[in-house]
Amino acid sequence: MLNIILFGPPGSGKGTQALKLKLKYALIHISTGDIFRSEINSQSSLGEELKSYMDHGQLVPDELTFRVLKSYLGENDLEKSQGIIFDGFPRTIPQAEALDTFLAERKEPIQVVLSLLVNEDEVVKRIVLRGKSSGRSDDNDETIVRKRMQVYRDQTFPLAAYYTAQNKYVELNGEGSIEEVFTSLCNHINRTVALSEGADVI
Ligand code: ADP
Repeated sequence: MLNIILFGPPGSGKGTQALKLKLKYALIHISTGDIFRSEINSQSSLGEELKSYMDHGQLVPDELTFRVLKSYLGENDLEKSQGIIFDGFPRTIPQAEALDTFLAERKEPIQVVLSLLVNEDEVVKRIVLRGKSSGRSDDNDETIVRKRMQVYRDQTFPLAAYYTAQNKYVELNGEGSIEEVFTSLCNHINRTVALSEGADVI
């Protein structure tokens, strides 16, 4: 099993890279943002509640995030994959702790946390551009996008220290082309796989 977290600020390219990695390594892709947006599209009252946080650039509270994720996991069979790629989850320390507990029960811990480093002005530009075609209501307004960056710095970035303490945190340059970043991610993953198989990797 290959369990990976893709880490980085909004707009750092996690979603794009996760889709490519999913295909290459036969992984299940879990994006809490995508799961929330599909709940919103179903026009449920739960969706309304999720939207009220997302449209303000706030995180969905942990309890609600766990509830939605648990129901998603109940409907999707994790056993059939070679592993899981997490994208946009965990985003807070309690989420990371809950994920560690969940994976420890399955004896399949996170192997590596790959963090995409990108300059903040660059990602704000990318997101606002994406908003013009994606129709995502949280991407259209620069003030909301800046707020999401602030939330990332305050609530999510502390996870870098959390996973560094577990010796799993790896930073890489997220500013190259899609293919360059993908190659770099694959190199790190291949190295992680080789190490876990006991190979002597320099
Ligand atoms: P981006 O990485 O561009 O912000 P996402 O789709 O990952 O896009 O997230 C969009 C929004 O969904 C976030 O701003 C937040 O409101 C909500 N969200 C996604 N994942 C989580 C999570 N794990 N915990 C809390 N809120 C989340």
